[in-house]
Amino acid sequence: MGGPSPADVRARLLPWYDANRRDLPWRRTRNPYRILVAEYLLQRTRIKSGTPYYERFLKRFPTIRDLAAGPLDDVLAVWEGLGFYGRARNLHAAARVIVEEHRGRIPQSYDALTSLPGIGPYTAGAVASIAFGIRVPAVDGNVTRVIARVFRIREDVTTGTVRRRIAEIAARLVSEDRPGAFNQAMMELGATVCTPLAPACPKCPLERLCLARAAGEERDLPVSSRSRSAPVVPVVFGLVTADERVLVVRRPRGRLLGGLWALPGGERSGRSEKEDLKGSIRSQTGVEVRVGPRWTHVDRTFSHLKWSGSIYRCSPIRRPQETDSVRWIPREEVMRLPLVPFHRDAIKALAGIESFESTR
Ligand code: SF4
Repeated sequence: MGGPSPADVRARLLPWYDANRRDLPWRRTRNPYRILVAEYLLQRTRIKSGTPYYERFLKRFPTIRDLAAGPLDDVLAVWEGLGFYGRARNLHAAARVIVEEHRGRIPQSYDALTSLPGIGPYTAGAVASIAFGIRVPAVDGNVTRVIARVFRIREDVTTGTVRRRIAEIAARLVSEDRPGAFNQAMMELGATVCTPLAPACPKCPLERLCLARAAGEERDLPVSSRSRSAPVVPVVFGLVTADERVLVVRRPRGRLLGGLWALPGGERSGRSEKEDLKGSIRSQTGVEVRVGPRWTHVDRTFSHLKWSGSIYRCSPIRRPQETDSVRWIPREEVMRLPLVPFHRDAIKALAGIESFESTR
């Protein structure tokens, strides 16, 4: 493997973790369901933002059977505002598989975990090691960075070959008797000490073993070809209202904010904003609209792109027909659906104006 020995890494890292680990709600439990929920929830979410959702989620769905029996809309409603809604759909689907095929018990093997919806090698490794004490690695972005630095890996960590090499190193490093604690220690080190832009090497338990530190390259690693600048995508949405009702559509699965209810519209196709909007509302709902004044600007950043554009007030020329993915419903009811958060704000702002039907 080259670089420091697994025994040396463990001997320094585990005592550091025991003394410095943050007290987080999912670290106070060995309940596999709670650990599973935390791991889905923390995929691509910071701990600070994820913690209140974790608590709210378990309050609403205290057991895997409660989750499996709950409607998807309730799951999405608890998740609303956290982003990456595919995780919520996958967690809900996984709960149903666990109840139907595993008698409500979270599978206790790495391979069975990876067969559940939305569970890749990282999540399977985390749940298997933390909940069941199985000796497997859990390699996320933090662990990749720590390994790339400690072992001074100077190749692009986004390539398949280097990812495999890092996974192999991680597998050898994992402690035999405390695999869950070891994996969490690596993540904790990456999150709190070996951070992307300003690694605090003098405070690091691995400083004397770290090859990047010895070479003065800690800030140059890891090397990643992935661009950091997110493209700006122009969007336009319609706040279509009449008779105290609002037109909403279910965003398609597999797309950004998939599964949430939203105002009709979306990515522009290159004509004027108003023409694009009329076209998207027509294709998504079959409704022809009159486009009124701009209601608000859209400026939202996601992990891989930014949405920039407008929301317009609109009125329907004919009463919309409802389908599974199109609803024309009273304003109070729309607020109970799991909604795209900034669309919820746009609908809420209607309450502040005198005439709800100002575009008619
Ligand atoms: S010594 Fe510095 S670069 Fe190396 S693992 Fe520790 S914090 Fe990261």
